Amino acid sequence: MEPFVIKREETGWIEVVCGSMFSGKTEELIRRMRRAEIAKQRVEIFKPAFDVRYAEAEVVSHNRTSIPSVVVQHSSEILQNAGIAQVIGIDEAHFFDTDLPRVCQELARKGRRVIIAGLDQDYRAQPFEQMAQLMAIAEYVTKLHAICVVCGAPANNSQRIVASDERLLLGEKDAYEPRCRHCFEWPNES
Ligand SMILES: [Zn+2]
Repeated sequence: MEPFVIKREETGWIEVVCGSMFSGKTEELIRRMRRAEIAKQRVEIFKPAFDVRYAEAEVVSHNRTSIPSVVVQHSSEILQNAGIAQVIGIDEAHFFDTDLPRVCQELARKGRRVIIAGLDQDYRAQPFEQMAQLMAIAEYVTKLHAICVVCGAPANNSQRIVASDERLLLGEKDAYEPRCRHCFEWPNES
């Protein structure tokens, strides 16, 4: 019997951390990036220019944990700026263009570990297309949950509590609240 001989130098892969608003996605991304840094791995973290809530060039979670990041306009700039990073973090991935899955595939093929954090669904509970694709092609998917503010069950949805039809809307506690499937008010059913 012929033994397996794995002929490659580096192996990359894709990890997706997704969930509703307030589920701790960015905290989880930062935790994974920090562990890689402790292991002396070269890391780089990117975020879309659309996300300007907090510090310009930092990824900051709602509890204000932060890590330096590179702000880019288009996902193709991640390829250009990845440099020699072994671990590449991408925050607020739902704000990126639909080219992001291809970009992540290419990085993984080049032997990089790619960690993506983002909302899986918009305020109408419709999947963000690039996140759905990334969840399918990723080696590892972690789905996080917030806690439903109405009943205390695990929350899978982000209820928009301000009047706006924009699909991409920046906001924190004043624009969204986490709700479970039962308590979520489905926009198309009212
Ligand atoms: Zn509920």
